[in-house]
Amino acid sequence: MSTAGPRPVRAARGTELTARDWSTEAALRMFHNNLDPEVAERPDDLVVYGGTGKAARDWNSFDAISRELTTLAPDETLLVQSGRPVGVMRTHEWAPRVLIANSNLVGDWATWPEFRRLEQLGLTMYGQMTAGSWIYIGTQGILQGTYETFAAVANKRFGGTLAGTLTLTGGLGGMGGAQPLAVTMNEGVALCVEVDPDRARRRLETRYLDEIADDLDDAIERCLAAKRDRRALSVAVIGNAAEVFPELLRRGVDIDVVTDQTSAHDPLAYLPKGVALADWHDYAAKKPDEFTDRSRESMAEQVEAMVGFMDRGAEVFDYGNSIRGEAKLGGYERAFDFPGFVPAYIRPLFCEGKGPFRWAALSGDPKDIEATDRAILELFPENKQLHRWITMAQERVEFQGLPARICWLGYGERHLAGLKFNEMVASGELSAPIVIGRDHLDCGSVASPYRETEAMADGSDAIADWPLLNALINTASGATWVSIHHGGGVGIGRSIHAGQVTVADGTELAAQKLERVLTNDPAMGVIRHVDAGYSRADEVAAERGVRVPMEGS
Ligand code: NAD
Repeated sequence: MSTAGPRPVRAARGTELTARDWSTEAALRMFHNNLDPEVAERPDDLVVYGGTGKAARDWNSFDAISRELTTLAPDETLLVQSGRPVGVMRTHEWAPRVLIANSNLVGDWATWPEFRRLEQLGLTMYGQMTAGSWIYIGTQGILQGTYETFAAVANKRFGGTLAGTLTLTGGLGGMGGAQPLAVTMNEGVALCVEVDPDRARRRLETRYLDEIADDLDDAIERCLAAKRDRRALSVAVIGNAAEVFPELLRRGVDIDVVTDQTSAHDPLAYLPKGVALADWHDYAAKKPDEFTDRSRESMAEQVEAMVGFMDRGAEVFDYGNSIRGEAKLGGYERAFDFPGFVPAYIRPLFCEGKGPFRWAALSGDPKDIEATDRAILELFPENKQLHRWITMAQERVEFQGLPARICWLGYGERHLAGLKFNEMVASGELSAPIVIGRDHLDCGSVASPYRETEAMADGSDAIADWPLLNALINTASGATWVSIHHGGGVGIGRSIHAGQVTVADGTELAAQKLERVLTNDPAMGVIRHVDAGYSRADEVAAERGVRVPMEGS
């Protein structure tokens, strides 16, 4: 019987253990941190980000996971099945302390209606990517990737800067909220359409967004003035993207870049036009099929406008939320006329094993992150882009929950960072251990034909062996917790992906584990892209010594 209910959750800080050792303490703190009101979008519902991405299935499961992590021994492993703790088994000290499987369904059953049926029965939950695997670090987690993506757009089309350009986008949620700051970091102007004023205000409060306009006319005026002056500015307008995008196209507003990060991957998390904000959740819960039809029709209208902007010469791309797939289901035939962001801008990085490496300071002390920032700059003195990123992040990123940092690193780099942090914990330079993880949106950890593996050179987009091998090798290499999820950012039936988190607690054992995990995890990205025939991945494997038995055959 479910009895426990919502209450404010905040991770413990400082150096005192509440669990038996730092590996379980780390899992406990990160689990709780995901639900910190500063971090989670809807903590009372256990929803962290990305539509309905949850950290635990229900509040009873929350309590049971917390209890088990508090008492778990260093040779035991907790098994979590879609947000519910289902077993504790005797393993060994190199084994992960937690193994997590979220939202997985057998192929033919992998549909939203079947998922929702099972969810309503209390048998599963949506884990998104880092919600159910306890390594979400707030909007910063996506910021660098978003910043790099807009930098790639700037390089491709606008001579290396977005100054003097206007970017239109939708959605200011947990991830989408990174867009305005990423655009202004690239010196451009962003116009963000968000239907929920509270979400927009939250971005304003955390300095991701500069201004909220009074209405559409006011928003256009502010944006065009800033564009004319080549002044960086981000402006939100409260409205429905399915109405505002076509209206901006109709008015012929001079927009240079168009994308979207509403929660389109889940039709119940996208508000159809004509539905009041206040009726959203009730309507979606009571009539999910009708709601889905209406939201897909609205997405079709939004995407039609996006194609209209493309036809007028704007740079248009899908930002990993499946809006093209949903618009197509909504009846719009040209939905796939514009590309996804991975084949357009990110794949060359994946060939080098590069991806969203991140870490959090378990002490809760921002000084620990400052020290790791300095260490990263010293470790990679020649990497100018990384220096620019860390400097800007220090100036402009507000921490949410435990202080954390994201910084894309590749094969041959990540383990150096991990070992350095571990040394800094051992020497006392850092006041407490650090957890090191990453998004599931990484080079070798995801199969997702509408996103990370869209348009692979050998057509292997839907091959899902790679994320499973990734989870297995991380388990075999000493990661502290490992997860396998389905659905993530693109929705049920559309992706399989894996994650790992490893603790740097300053011990020699942690150093050995970190070296293996942070070498093997990005190596998966290199071998995945060698296998698919990317010559850059061949070069990286040869230069950096990644063993690929059948390379070239
Ligand atoms: P979220 O649920 O926190 O936020 C979605 C936002 O969209 C909400 O603020 C909501 O009010 C708004 N919205 C919904 N319908 C709208 C409409 N019709 N018009 C205007 N606004 C509307 O989700 P999130 O964490 O911000 O993620 C957004 C999407 O991006 C998801 O589909 C997610 O899976 C995807 N995603 C992409 C990446 C990436 O790297 N590209 C990474 C993570 C997530």
